[in-house]
Amino acid sequence: MTFKRVAIIGLGLLGGSIGLAVRDYLPGAITTGYDADPATRRRAAERGLVATVCETAAAAVRNADLVILCVPVGAMAAAGAEIAAALPLHALVSDVGSSKQAVAEALAVALPGHAVIPAHPVAGTERSGADAGFAALFQQRWCILTPPADADPAQVAALTDFWEALGAHVEIMEAAHHDRVLAVTSHLPHLIAYTIVGTASDLETVTQGEVIKYSAGGFRDFTRIAASDPVMWRDVFLTNKDAVLEMLQRFSEDLTALQRAIRVGDGDQLFDHFSRTRAIRRSIIEQGQDDARPDFGRSDHGDEKP
Ligand code: NAP
Repeated sequence: MTFKRVAIIGLGLLGGSIGLAVRDYLPGAITTGYDADPATRRRAAERGLVATVCETAAAAVRNADLVILCVPVGAMAAAGAEIAAALPLHALVSDVGSSKQAVAEALAVALPGHAVIPAHPVAGTERSGADAGFAALFQQRWCILTPPADADPAQVAALTDFWEALGAHVEIMEAAHHDRVLAVTSHLPHLIAYTIVGTASDLETVTQGEVIKYSAGGFRDFTRIAASDPVMWRDVFLTNKDAVLEMLQRFSEDLTALQRAIRVGDGDQLFDHFSRTRAIRRSIIEQGQDDARPDFGRSDHGDEKP
């Protein structure tokens, strides 16, 4: 089973990148797309993010065999409801949302009787909107599928093939496990970045000018993460609340231990901790998930701003 007609709902960073990747890496497939924002639809047509930009979600999915919802997690239920009446019975519905249990629940309600296999490509940048997408976004990145227990294995295999064709490595996981893993690898780091950047700009003893001027000292990389889309991240924290709160509790305990080491002058503890984290960075680079160059190789990629 291969997908020949792919409908993409939401034409921002993720939707646009999927559309461009299908064009480049799956030339046998035809794409349609829809976005709630008319300006995004216009820009999507200008950039050719999908072959046909439709004026309604229903029109976009009418002939589809694969529908991918690429809207913020909090908008999945509404997007599902908009396509429900027009969705062909045989079509597979998937998504790219950053939390998975909430999306599965929302789509089960919005699309009863339809096959839904949620997915999360672990790939992105801090940019959003119709100008942000690029075809190579998924190359060498993981895409996690969270099929329900009764999912059709042929559809799981077809969705796996689809993501592999776009350049991703596919992993299958239970939705609850996905949400716990991503809480620690993605959601918590974003929360920390949002906190640090907010704290620094609120400090009365440090001026805004100094924060910007001396940002190379570690702060700059946090500002990149903290520039991520506010709607998307609001929805991630609201929908992955339990796992994020659990990881935050663990993080607070570890932070308190480091705080104590600093207070009592326990250099060995600090050194051991920092040596361990340096080794983790090394293994991320060895596994090809980041770049060893000082600016993370960003200035060499047309796809990401330094
Ligand atoms: P984005 O660039 O903001 O694009 C989302 C688009 O969906 C926006 O144009 C938005 O329009 C539109 N939209 C909202 N509700 C809609 C609806 N009911 N029907 C049709 N279009 C609708 O966001 P993104 O970064 O592509 O994120 C999309 C999804 O991917 C999210 O679920 C996010 O969790 C997931 N994801 C993101 C990343 C990342 O790094 N950004 C990585 C992996 C997964 P308006 O602006 O008018 O609301």
